[in-house]
Amino acid sequence: MSRLSEPRSITLESCSTLGLRFALVLFTFVVVLFAQDHDENFRKVREDMVRTQLAGGSWGVEALRDPRVLGAFREVPRHRFVPDALVRHAYEDRPLPIGYGQTISQPYIVAKMTELIEPKKDHRALEIGTGSGYQAAILSRLVTDVYTIEIIEPLGVAARERLAGLGHRNVEVRVGDGYYGWPEKAPFDCIVVTAAADHIPPPLIEQLKPGGRLVVPIGNPFQTQRLMLVTKGNKGPRDIRVRDIMPVRFVPLLSGSSGQ
Ligand code: SAH
Repeated sequence: MSRLSEPRSITLESCSTLGLRFALVLFTFVVVLFAQDHDENFRKVREDMVRTQLAGGSWGVEALRDPRVLGAFREVPRHRFVPDALVRHAYEDRPLPIGYGQTISQPYIVAKMTELIEPKKDHRALEIGTGSGYQAAILSRLVTDVYTIEIIEPLGVAARERLAGLGHRNVEVRVGDGYYGWPEKAPFDCIVVTAAADHIPPPLIEQLKPGGRLVVPIGNPFQTQRLMLVTKGNKGPRDIRVRDIMPVRFVPLLSGSSGQ
């Protein structure tokens, strides 16, 4: 009996396994197709964002022109850096909440800061305030190495995973207080601080290469701050020039104990 029924059950089993496999392959295929279509739709929205908000200079601000910078904004999928519930707002001309009271900056501000530091292919860049990882992803397309520091651990960990998942292999995320920079990886050609401080952190000036550029919002938290461009000369750590660029609003740079 059992000798007769065995092959029958094997055939039935392999049939159902085969059916299951086929269904799984079909499902994966549909999901991949859908995801591609989804991302393809966003490509058009992204192109509009670059054309109108960045290169078009909306709300009376200076239009951005650096073709490498604009190219990076065309490529990086901003919708992958915002919470799921806000995906449809990802390309709007405004900052969005990313949890823990923090925000991903408005596209124009990210682009303006990126243009100000004049990123070059062979540069090493430091970012303070990883947040979602979006600014780091933009930088990763423009320079050789990106080092980014986030004080809120879950944000840092999520950004690290997100950046790795999107294939940004030249970005290193560290959880810690960015006020002190990243001495082991210094000096940097460019530094972007994406949270507002009441003074320019001296360790960051120290870790900037001669000829390097640093952008930082300076002013009171929860009020309008001034975006400052710091350029370092060749005559030592005190040889710096500071230029006031424009008004901005950023979340505050937290100190070691407040971020944990
Ligand atoms: N650049 C981010 C947005 C920055 S929001 C992006 O592209 O999404 C500012 C971030 O700075 C927040 O995530 C905040 O937690 C972080 N932050 C605040 N103080 C910090 C500090 N001292 N060191 C490192 N990160 C800090």
